[in-house]
Amino acid sequence: MTKKHKPKLLLHICCGPCATVAANRLMEDYQVVLLFYNPNIEPIAEWQERLAAAQKLAQIYGLSLIVDDTDFEDWQTMAKPLAIEPERGRRCQLCYEWRLRRTAQLADQESCAYFATSLTVSPYKDREAINKIGLIAAGVTRANYLPTDFQQADGYRQSIKLSKQYGLYRQKYCGCRFSRQ
Ligand code: SF4
Repeated sequence: MTKKHKPKLLLHICCGPCATVAANRLMEDYQVVLLFYNPNIEPIAEWQERLAAAQKLAQIYGLSLIVDDTDFEDWQTMAKPLAIEPERGRRCQLCYEWRLRRTAQLADQESCAYFATSLTVSPYKDREAINKIGLIAAGVTRANYLPTDFQQADGYRQSIKLSKQYGLYRQKYCGCRFSRQ
């Protein structure tokens, strides 16, 4: 398929390493645009490190990258009452929903036929919940959610290998202050 005929897809990325595999696989069939939208990440120095890795990867892959640096305070207001929730619990479900809703809106604005997320690379995340939430988020836009399972075919291990190869920063916690603690 030539680039001209590939549908445009907005790929939400949470960090450089997860984006390596997700973007690489999708680029075969889609015209991929990257989106870095992660108001959950704290502290700001960590957010900047992950953004720098995403920018480096965008350059390596020759892809456009949209950076949305809004909603930090609103995200905190949502998450604070759920501070003691375990990972993969209610706070995480809302965190996926938060980011996928915004991705759906931006996909619509950017005239993307599809949107997806790199979040399904991680074995620590609930892929089924992420894909369900993505499909619901698509309900209010013209863009379609593309369900994924980037863990397939050893995706997580590949993401570590590629991020080492490209010299990308790899984080030690999911993103929010609660996961850091
Ligand atoms: S642990 Fe990760 S997915 Fe869950 S709320 Fe925190 S940043 Fe979001």
